[in-house]
Amino acid sequence: MSGTAPFGYPLKPHARKHGPSGYKNWDNYRDWLRDEFDFRCVFCLRREVWDERRAVFAVEHLIPRKHAPDLALDYTNLVYACSSCNSAKSANPAPDPCVHAYGKLVVVDPDGEIRPLNADGKRLIRTVCLDDEETTRWRALWIGVLHSYAKHYPDRYRAMLSFPLILPDLTKLAPPGGNAKPDGAINCWHAQQSKGPLPVTE
Ligand SMILES: [Zn+2]
Repeated sequence: MSGTAPFGYPLKPHARKHGPSGYKNWDNYRDWLRDEFDFRCVFCLRREVWDERRAVFAVEHLIPRKHAPDLALDYTNLVYACSSCNSAKSANPAPDPCVHAYGKLVVVDPDGEIRPLNADGKRLIRTVCLDDEETTRWRALWIGVLHSYAKHYPDRYRAMLSFPLILPDLTKLAPPGGNAKPDGAINCWHAQQSKGPLPVTE
């Protein structure tokens, strides 16, 4: 494992796999977003498997509803975020992870500190309060736990960097407005799980 696993942010902008539309409530996009963003918060990288409680995650608007009500139900304006980042972000716009590779904006040190690499990184950190003491301590805790697991409990290490036990089968969902990217559903994590063990993601 790397020194700061699992807090290595993506080095490429996220390319959306799914294109559902037509839901009347943004929470109906939840399972699409869970699969889209690998069951973790795009902002702080917290994973569902660390809690196994979906209720602590939220459907988040990149551009807040009050600034762009017409994008409230637009899939391209939605990401998956934990409740901590959801409440910290509030009504502030965040850099789009599909435009900006977050790994080129910020970097996490082994002690849990997060540093901006440029102005967009400063904006990301500020918008979601990623550098407050509580979040920094939380990151340090998980870096330490996973470092220890990697050394002494490889099975637990794999489990903590893997996927939830029950994954949504996106091929069973029927968005009212259709799905512009059907291949994404066919290759969702649930479908891949049926073909063999899923990879761990550091
Ligand atoms: Zn978060």
